[in-house]
Amino acid sequence: MIYRTPDSKNFDILLVEDTLEDMDLYVRSLKKKENLNFNIEKATTIKQAIEISEKQKFDCYVVDYHLPDGDGIKFIHHLIDNKNHHKDSAIVMVTGQGDEETAVEALKVGADDYLTKKAISDGIFVQPLLAAIDRARLKSQIAHYQEELERSNNELADFAHTASHDLKSPLRRIKSYCDILEEDSRERLNTEDKQILFRIDTNINRMQSLIEQLLTFSLINNQKEEKEDIDINQLLLEITNDFEPQIKEACGQINCNNMPCVYGYKTRLIQLFSNLISNALKYKNPGINALIQVGVEDTQTHYRFFIKDNGLGISKDNLDKIFTDFKRLHAHEDIEGSGLGLSICKKIVEKHNGKLWVESTQGEGSTFHFTIIK
Ligand code: ADP
Repeated sequence: MIYRTPDSKNFDILLVEDTLEDMDLYVRSLKKKENLNFNIEKATTIKQAIEISEKQKFDCYVVDYHLPDGDGIKFIHHLIDNKNHHKDSAIVMVTGQGDEETAVEALKVGADDYLTKKAISDGIFVQPLLAAIDRARLKSQIAHYQEELERSNNELADFAHTASHDLKSPLRRIKSYCDILEEDSRERLNTEDKQILFRIDTNINRMQSLIEQLLTFSLINNQKEEKEDIDINQLLLEITNDFEPQIKEACGQINCNNMPCVYGYKTRLIQLFSNLISNALKYKNPGINALIQVGVEDTQTHYRFFIKDNGLGISKDNLDKIFTDFKRLHAHEDIEGSGLGLSICKKIVEKHNGKLWVESTQGEGSTFHFTIIK
């Protein structure tokens, strides 16, 4: 991995070293490279290094561990704490032979690499320095892109939230006007007119539920909610009570294993279980009573929940597609839905640092699995 910026023949280097012979060795090694130009500043103490680094930004800081006014780690801390100024600069720690612990400590604190004095006197200096500069720049670019991505994701979520929120009231008004029209003109409307009004009403309801889903979707990462201990037995009891009419309609049965307590976001987990149970009931096999099993496997690191149904199942080709936003495999006319339910589930599981996936055989049923980190 070699990454170069256009002006990368010139490098500003700050050497922080109190032993004159070593300082000479570094300078000689750098000057040997004919096609590269190193502008070198020198400091012999941490105090001096801090003063110089506050006035000028360097491509690389080469920091000796043993300095008269403390250890080099102190200076690395100072550079890392001033991240905005130094975030694309490389830091290379110089240690004595056998000082691995110091090297590890330096890397933990934020150094990009370390070199032993022995390696430097053997001529291994400039190449690792250039590689550290490349790495630091690349790291800084990745961090920049990540920040940009986060910002634009937040903007998008805000936009979806505002848009869906603002769409609610005109839609509510359209619905009221339709109701008024139907009531006032009932006598005058013919069958075809009534059918048109009925279709308008169906579509308004569909749009209302889509807007609700969009709002839920946009709120998952944006709404402030504290994690808490949640008894999944209790949570499932409440959910199955809420689903009583749908269970009856599907001649269904929901069986639950003994469930654990998890540390998570309560409203989100209610949404997650509700969406998966609702789908298990919705996509039932016609003519067969819906049998749903909710279970859990306890591993050392996480709980692996599953929701198993004996419903329509999903073809192999469609297994990945169903987690895509707005992707539906069924027409509205057959089974109502927005195509956002599983996208919401996926987001919720990811918010709990888990994974969501499905196993299914068409015509026989599906099992949705998800993990929640302990
Ligand atoms: P919706 O149910 O609103 O369409 P979802 O995102 O919840 O949206 O589901 C996406 C698609 O995945 C559904 O349209 C359906 O075709 C399929 N699906 C989801 N759950 C099941 C299930 N338990 N059995 C069979 N198909 C399912």
